Amino acid sequence: MQTDVQQVAAGTYLVHGSNTNWVILTEGDAVTLVDTGYPGDREQVLASLAQVGGSPEAVAAVLITHAHNDHLGSAEYLRATYGTPVYLHDAEVPHARREFLHQVTVGDVVRNGWRPGVVPWALHAIRSGGKAHVPVTAPEAFPSEGALDLPGRPVPVHTPGHTDGHAAFHLPDTGVLISGDALVSGHPTSRIKGPQLLPDMFHHERARAVASLDVLAALEGDLLLPGHGPAHRGPVREAALQARERAL
Ligand SMILES: [Zn+2]
Ligand SMILES: [Zn+2]
Repeated sequence: MQTDVQQVAAGTYLVHGSNTNWVILTEGDAVTLVDTGYPGDREQVLASLAQVGGSPEAVAAVLITHAHNDHLGSAEYLRATYGTPVYLHDAEVPHARREFLHQVTVGDVVRNGWRPGVVPWALHAIRSGGKAHVPVTAPEAFPSEGALDLPGRPVPVHTPGHTDGHAAFHLPDTGVLISGDALVSGHPTSRIKGPQLLPDMFHHERARAVASLDVLAALEGDLLLPGHGPAHRGPVREAALQARERAL
């Protein structure tokens, strides 16, 4: 299976799954996998690892920006099958265990069904396991403060709002920001392209999501790898400020 794997920087690959992205960071033979797509994207996750010369056994850790099904899809599979640790922000750990679920509901989608793109997006989401129950049974909080001792040396950045424990990952050495759903560059339910927040129905607390854009605007970098939409080149600061302007 060929997947849409794009090398965007040294040892840094953006993968477009089905309406969702994940990122592979490589260092020698070892790999960090950031997010894991929808449950239905599993074959694409495995194929993307193979395409960069990796394998599921080579994944040192799975980092999850946040525990929505389109990012968490294969985390438990990798943990249970290969013993791969699954790390999230402390505040997102119970979400990954599904002690609660802060995710767009069928009711939210129905109320927004008149918006362009929402119905086809929802049908795809359901087909891809968007409503499946995919808890991680033993998720772990990030093992240290600051840069993680993993391929890519990612630095978690708490960016709450989309979910309570959402984290972006900053790669200061390559000027990359993996922004998850705290800052995206497009979505099937959005008619605008470029840096933006997801439509309102997707955020647990939209006002906090807007405030978190200021956190991202303080980061140095010139390449944005979002959870949805294409890679965006240009100062991360400007991208975050543009999204904030559009959100007000
Ligand atoms: Zn999300
Ligand atoms: Zn998402």
